Amino acid sequence: MEKVLSGIRSTGQLHLGNYFGALRNFVKLQHEKECYFFIANVHALTTHNDPVQLRESVKSVLTEYIACGLDPDVAAIYIQSDLPETYELYTLLNMLAYKGELEKTVSFKEKARKSPNNVNAGLLTYPVLMAADILIHRAHKVPVGKDQEQHLEMARNFAQRFNHRYEEDFFPEPFAFNFGDELVKVPGLDGNGKMGKSEGVNNAIFLRDDDQTIQKKVMKAKTDGGPQSENSEKPEEIKNLFTLLNLVSNTDTVQFFEDKWNDCGIRYGDLKKQLAQDMINFVTPIREKIVDLEQNDALLQKIARRVLKKPVQVLM
Ligand code: AMP
Repeated sequence: MEKVLSGIRSTGQLHLGNYFGALRNFVKLQHEKECYFFIANVHALTTHNDPVQLRESVKSVLTEYIACGLDPDVAAIYIQSDLPETYELYTLLNMLAYKGELEKTVSFKEKARKSPNNVNAGLLTYPVLMAADILIHRAHKVPVGKDQEQHLEMARNFAQRFNHRYEEDFFPEPFAFNFGDELVKVPGLDGNGKMGKSEGVNNAIFLRDDDQTIQKKVMKAKTDGGPQSENSEKPEEIKNLFTLLNLVSNTDTVQFFEDKWNDCGIRYGDLKKQLAQDMINFVTPIREKIVDLEQNDALLQKIARRVLKKPVQVLM
C-alpha cells in the first residue's frame, strides 16, 4: 500500500492555511493509505528556541490535529523527536546535499532575510531533515501546501542520489500531494502573500479564533476602491478574498459575489460580512473540539506517548 507522510511545525497555533493546505488532506488520506503524521518539533527549533513555548506548542498542535479529525487509531501520529532514526538518515543525506543548492532554496533565503541574526546551519539543511522525515518511511505521497513544492523536489533529488550511489530503487521518489489538481496556497488577509503563523496578527485566521476575532480580522482585510469597469481583472487583495470565500462558502454565495464584482455592484462590506460568517461557521466546531480536548490531558498524553503503531523499517 502507498505510504503517506506529512507534518506541521510546532511553532504556534494552526490556521486556515495549515488546514486547507495540509490537514484537510491528512484527514481524508488516513482512511485510504498507510499514513504517518508528525509534529515537527525539531524543525521548529530552526526558528523558535524557547523551551517552554516549544513544549506547549507540541501539545497545542496535537490537540488541533485530533480536533480536525486525525484519528490515532487509524493513522500513526507521532512527535518528530520521538523517532531519532530520522536524524541518522539526516546525517547520511547531508553528505549528498550541496551547500549551493541549499543556499538557493526559497524558504531559506526568506527566513535568512527575515532573521539575519539567526541563520543557523539547521535552517540551511531544513530540506535535508524534511527529506529524512519522508524517506525514513519510504513515503510516496506528501500532502503539503504549495510553499513546500521546492522541498519535495529536493527530497526527490536526495533520494535519487542515494539510490544511485548505494542501491537502485532503495527509496521511492516522494511527491507533493493534494486532492485537487493543484497544490493550495491560502492567502493572508493583508493583501499579499500567504497566510502564515507569524505574518502579523491580522493576517491569519486561527482554528482557535473566536467569532469576534474572526469578524474583526476579516473586516480589516485590505480592499481597493472597487471595480472600475464590468468584468475587469481583480487586483491581488480582492482575488485573495475570493480565494478564501471559495474555501469556506457554498458555490451560490461565491457566484453571487462574482456576479456583483462583474457588474460593478459589489459592496466590500457585504462580502466581508459573509466571508466572516462562513469562516465562523467553519471554525466553530473545530474550536469547540479543541476546547473539549484541552480538558482531557490524560487522553492527549496517551496519544502523544504511544509508540508508533506500525513498526518503522529501521534503515541501514
Ligand atoms: P508550517 O506551518 O510551515 O509547518 O506548514 C505546515 C503545512 O501547512 C505545510 O504543508 C504547508 O505547506 C501548509 N501551509 C502553511 N501555510 C499555508 C498556506 N498559507 N497555504 C497553504 N498551505 C499552507
